Amino acid sequence: MADQYGDTPPAPPVRLTSAARDPIPVDQKPLPKEPESEEKKPKKQKQVKSNQKKQEKPVISEPSNFEHTIHVGFDPLTGEFTGMPESWAKLLQGSNISKNEQQQHPQAVLDVLRFYDGSSKQPETTKYMTNFKGGPTGKIAAGPKLQQSHIAVTPKTNEPVGGDDAPPPIASRPDKTKSIYTQPIEAKPTATGEKVKKKKMTDAEILEKLRTIVTMGDPNKKYTDLQKIGQGASGTVYIANEVSTGREVAIKQMNLQQQPKKELIINEIIVMRENQNPNIVNYLDSYLVGEELWVVMEYLAGGSLTDLVTEAVMNEGQIAAVVREVCQALEFLHDNNVIHRDIKSDNILLGMDGSIKLTDFGFCAQLSPERRIRDTMVGTPYWMAPEVVTRKQYGPKVDIWSLGIMAIEMIEAEPPYLNETPLRALYLIATNGKPEIKDKHKLSPVFQDFLDKCLEVDTDKRCSASELLRHPFLRLSVPLASLKHVIREVRNQRMH
Ligand code: ATP
Repeated sequence: MADQYGDTPPAPPVRLTSAARDPIPVDQKPLPKEPESEEKKPKKQKQVKSNQKKQEKPVISEPSNFEHTIHVGFDPLTGEFTGMPESWAKLLQGSNISKNEQQQHPQAVLDVLRFYDGSSKQPETTKYMTNFKGGPTGKIAAGPKLQQSHIAVTPKTNEPVGGDDAPPPIASRPDKTKSIYTQPIEAKPTATGEKVKKKKMTDAEILEKLRTIVTMGDPNKKYTDLQKIGQGASGTVYIANEVSTGREVAIKQMNLQQQPKKELIINEIIVMRENQNPNIVNYLDSYLVGEELWVVMEYLAGGSLTDLVTEAVMNEGQIAAVVREVCQALEFLHDNNVIHRDIKSDNILLGMDGSIKLTDFGFCAQLSPERRIRDTMVGTPYWMAPEVVTRKQYGPKVDIWSLGIMAIEMIEAEPPYLNETPLRALYLIATNGKPEIKDKHKLSPVFQDFLDKCLEVDTDKRCSASELLRHPFLRLSVPLASLKHVIREVRNQRMH
């Protein structure tokens, strides 16, 4: 049975766009037009309604999700909000958003508070939440830079310490760079006759669904020598040897009981399985072992792009090469109506051959005409597009904004506002739009233009992945093989 979770056998490694003329399953219909932006009425500052006005639909049946509408006022004379829920007031207090900033953009403050409050309702232990108030506040320790050593033709060391086979140590990132998932906050009236989508699958349904996806049998016989290489909030990642081929694979083991959003795991598996591409970490197999779900995927030994941006100085040719590869992944996903929604250096894995692949599909959204407006907010605050933060248009272009932020990581080692609290960062994204890039004038004009095309607040003017792939900046790309030595060097550095 084919349904929204794609109950079909694993797709062959071909682009799904090739089948675009066939009857399209619900979740693979063409990209809808981007949701209409909120009416651009001048906003009254006196009485700001926290709920955006929903579009009118012909006949309204039962809402599938209720929310108490909060009316918060703002008194420009006192500079104080009125009627603000206590939880919001507390968040605001700890955010470092100054009184002056609150006065200048009260609506933006409410937008980000609503957003922030939604995410902070998540259980503290999950991936889908970040500790907005607490968490390590310092920047990522940039670590000693290689000081252009990666540009040298000969790497410092001929052989990596421990060889390529030894997994590198597990890197840590500040909590606030972790992805968040926010709950839908708007009532969603549905038209009579329209199929009401189930909001949540039960655990039994999830298991039943998973059983139709996973391979039967005991993976312990197929994979040996498991060695832990990473720890995510949703599970632990191991490197293992695939007995039948002798190749190394990565296995992510997730305890289903501990997953707050089990549907997202199904989502992750299906999107990985059905969207095989040279620039995407390929799904190989999955198994259910008791209450654990094992997802087997290709192993990339070179660590994440975060390691590279924090420990090496990248030149424009290298940045262009990485950006091109990620753009290729995005063009492929967007052509297949998938928005990744969590593009950041942490989610780009590197192969020792210089290959660059996108991973972590736990947050991606499959668009369909029935779901024109995404009612959940996901991603990682510092990488989020303004339209996500302010709940305006929300389409594949959100990935392009995040790509621009990731390009800034490659220049500056971290995204803009990382030293701010996530709430203030959201406020700054909402109010500043395009972030300032330090020493922008030192970048080549084509690179500056490329960044401008990604970090354009107006989504109509922001380039698509396909347009970016034709941008002259990408002609500066170095061959991928030339990234090998910097990847190796950073890896060795982390071994020490
Ligand atoms: P979560 O998705 O649960 O929030 P996460 O995004 O932090 O977790 P995971 O996908 O669980 O990360 O992976 C944890 C770590 O394991 C990663 O940081 C990465 O270093 C490593 N890892 C994940 N997948 C692979 C892979 N295919 N090859 C090599 N290393 C991997």
